[in-house]
Amino acid sequence: MCQTKYVIVSRHPAAIQFIRANDARFLGAPVVSSATPDDVRDRWVAGNLPLHLAALAREVVAVEFAGQAPRGAEYSVADMAAAGAYLESYQVKHVEPVAVCASCKREVPVSWIDNYGCMAAGCNY
Ligand SMILES: [Zn+2]
Repeated sequence: MCQTKYVIVSRHPAAIQFIRANDARFLGAPVVSSATPDDVRDRWVAGNLPLHLAALAREVVAVEFAGQAPRGAEYSVADMAAAGAYLESYQVKHVEPVAVCASCKREVPVSWIDNYGCMAAGCNY
């Protein structure tokens, strides 16, 4: 596990180069091709992350495209620029799933149904 606050998660050399060229925080950041929770937890992470890992990061910097994203195994930085590549920052937050109460038909946290029964006002389910 790396000690830096900044990590790049990518398998694409052009994407890594683009991120470093457009966000100086990632200039010296280590690159991992496949992230673990320990790689991204409480860090600023650039690249593509599944949402369950993105939720662990402080911030996720994604490569996005104004046009159609380049296809193929190895696109170039020029291909990315032609497709209107830019960086966008996100914070991803896990939220508790909801379920519809069978009695009052309101959306309530699943944990209510599983643990206590529905606690919506006026519902005794
Ligand atoms: Zn209810």
